[in-house]
This record gives sequence, C-alpha cells and structure tokens, in this order.
Amino acid sequence: MSAVWSRTVERGDDGALRVGGCDVRQLAGEFGTPLYIVDEADLRARAAAFRDHFTAAFGRHGTKCDVYYASKSFLSSRVTRWMLDEDLRMDVASGGELEIALRGGMPPERIGLHGNNKSDAEIERALKVGVGRIVVDSFDEIAILDAIAFELGVTAPVMVRVTTGVHAGGHEYIATSHEDQKFGLSLASGAAIEALRRVHAAESLELQGIHTHIGSQILSIDAFRESATRMFGLRAEFAAESGVEMPEVDLGGGYAISYVPGAEALEPERAAFEIADAVAEALKEAGGTWPRMSIEPGRAISGPAGMTLYRVGVVKTVNLEEGGHRTYVAVDGGMSDNMRPITYGAEYSATLAARLSEEPPALSRVVGKHCESGDVLVRNVELPGDVSRGDLLAVPATGAYGRVMANNYNGLLRPAVISVKDGQAQVHVRRDTMEDLLSWDVAPE
Ligand code: PLP
Repeated sequence: MSAVWSRTVERGDDGALRVGGCDVRQLAGEFGTPLYIVDEADLRARAAAFRDHFTAAFGRHGTKCDVYYASKSFLSSRVTRWMLDEDLRMDVASGGELEIALRGGMPPERIGLHGNNKSDAEIERALKVGVGRIVVDSFDEIAILDAIAFELGVTAPVMVRVTTGVHAGGHEYIATSHEDQKFGLSLASGAAIEALRRVHAAESLELQGIHTHIGSQILSIDAFRESATRMFGLRAEFAAESGVEMPEVDLGGGYAISYVPGAEALEPERAAFEIADAVAEALKEAGGTWPRMSIEPGRAISGPAGMTLYRVGVVKTVNLEEGGHRTYVAVDGGMSDNMRPITYGAEYSATLAARLSEEPPALSRVVGKHCESGDVLVRNVELPGDVSRGDLLAVPATGAYGRVMANNYNGLLRPAVISVKDGQAQVHVRRDTMEDLLSWDVAPE
C-alpha cells in the first residue's frame, strides 16, 4: 500500500483491506460505520520514532529533548497509556483534555497545560494536581496564575508562549509578521521579554522557559532554524539583563504528514538531526549553555495511524461544464466527522475497501450526508466506475483532528474510535447513540 496508509494495512487476495490483522468488513459489521480505526502499532512506532531520533539528535550535543504529544490531535485514555508506555509526555489545551490525560494515567508532572484563555477553574485544577508546566499566553494570565498559585500556597512552573514572527505551514514559511493573531506574546513588540520579567518577578511563579509553535504541516527546516534563532536571541537577551538563563526551550509541533499519495512529509528521522544542528547554531550565535529542549508533535504521531471507514449510500453522475462527468459518491458521514476539508480545504484520498474492481476508474468526489453543498470529504479521486450502495470506502490519514473535532451537525451521531492490533479491536471512544442525542435535548414539560 502507498505511504499514505498506516503500516499494517494490506489488501487481501479477495480485495478487502486488513489493518492490525483485522478485516475491515468484520470491523464495519461489529462496530458500524462511519468508523475511525487507529493502527496501534503504527501510532506507537511514530511516537517512538520521535522519542528516539530527537533523543539521539540532541544527545549528540549533550542535552535532552522531551517529546510532548499534542493531545488535541487525538485523545483517549487508552492513547494516553500508550504515550506513557512510549515514554512521551503530553500537552493538553483545556481542562477537559487534562481530565482525560489524568484518567489515562499520565503523571501530572509530565503534562503541560496550554490555552490562550484558561479559566480560573482550569488553572486551579492544574495547580492542584501539579502539572509539570503551564504555558502562559498573556499578561492577564500571568497575574491570574500568580494570584491563584499564591492562594493555593504553591509555586506554578511557567513557560512563556512567544510569537516569534515566524509562521510556517505547507510548503512555505513567512519569516516576518504574523503578529495579528490570538496566541502568544510577541517578540517584536517587546511583549515577550516583558512577560519574562513579570513571571520572574512574580512571587508564586517559577520561570522554566520559553515556548513557541510556528504552524502546522511544516516541511521546511528553515522555519525551525529561524524560530530557534529568534528564541535563543530572546533567551540570551533576558539572561543578559536578569542573570537568569532559562532552563527549557520548546519549539512546538507542526511536522507535516502526507494526506494524499505522493505528498511529502517531514519525518522525524530527518527533522531531528537537522533541527538539533540548527538549534546548536542558534545557541552558538546567541551564547549561553544548552537548555533542556522539547517539541510537541500531534498529527505526525496520530494522523497517519488512522483511517475512516464509510459505507456508500447514494451514487450519482453529473455533467461537467468543461465536458465529461463526475461521480458523486455519498457516504454515511461527512463534515461532522471530518471538519478539515470544509475548514481548511484539506485534501484526502479514498479507496474501495472491501473488494477490487475491474471497472475503469471514474473521476469521483466523495461527499457526506449533510445539508451543505460544501460537505465534501475527498474533492477529486479516481474510484472504480461500479462503486455502489453498500460498498465500503476507506479514507486514510484521518487519525488527527478527526474525532476530536467531530460534532452532531444535522443530528448525526459521532462515530466510534477503535484501535486494532494483532487481530484484536478495542474501543477508545464509543459511538453516540440516539439516546445520547435525545438526552442533550431538554424536552418540554
Ligand atoms: N503545539 C501547539 C501549541 C499547537 O497549537 C499545536 C496545534 O495546533 C500543536 C502543538 C500540534 O500541531 P501538529 O498537530 O500540527 O503537530
């Protein structure tokens, strides 16, 4: 199978896909469709690859690099357990994500709490359980966090989120601007260094370091190099004025994955050594001793490990203005289980999952069942001309930002997430039921 599929996916002689030793027809029969399927061996191997390559790459320079899995990309208590087994840490972005990470057994000191607008309750809970770091995002938050920590009689470990002006994503990066957004404290305006002064001066805060996240789907090491240069410049500037050399620097996530066959990815094997060398150069230029490093990959761990299985309902063919035809293949999910195409114009591919066909391929578009013409899952794909009601379709690389962004638009029930390994399936998140949907609605007396 092409690189867009997780590592245990194979097509049997009968044409049906198997993943983690399970036949997709049986999975569809047992768990229903749509169904998110996570390939456990693949997800764990990706987590381990980040751990091993970044440990080795920064180890060559004599420092450590922690990998925080960005749980916003996909979270369940079972996946938390896998992360712990693989010796990763975890980044959470809300009180809800924090609770699931704790339920999965992630020790609080291995958790980092993010969020541009944390509530008092979220801050209080994080401090009470003793998370390892709170990434502050504003002056308001520095004051509130200090006050809450003081009241609780604890010292809060703090990283300051810095907007470096480097914005990366897709095939390009922009080395300037991108100040006009809600996250972080700007380096260029002086807000970042002022935040460091305030955290350092605060009675109940302990300044651990600086954090930045420059974007998603990043392919270019140059973007990381530029962001490291700016981060180490800030670290040196603060050390010069305060005498404090911050012990940690986090360069965030954003490692690109391939969503469609042939698209490039930024694999940890390559990224780790190039980034570590770029950081070494940045440190040499800025001066100072090595901090402990950290990164926060999300989709590069969970994305390629997942696929979504759909059942085809309706097929229709339309004439194109420019001549020719397009086949619309409507499946039993759509924009409520994969928001990325409608939100970001994200591209995916699809394949017939339970059989092969001798029919010539037809230009097709896979659409959902929502009342929106933009409800498109796969914009352009060649599918056999005989795809019809009852067929199973699989969409690869949906493991990240799928179920975690899912919703009940049009009263659809959010699909289950299962993982598969060695012929066994486990439920991570159960499917919504009609009773769930009705229970959220408060009936009139
Ligand atoms: N860290 C932070 C602060 C983020 O905001 C995100 C994603 O939005 C990530 C890490 C993970 O990004 P990705 O899934 O592209 O690796």
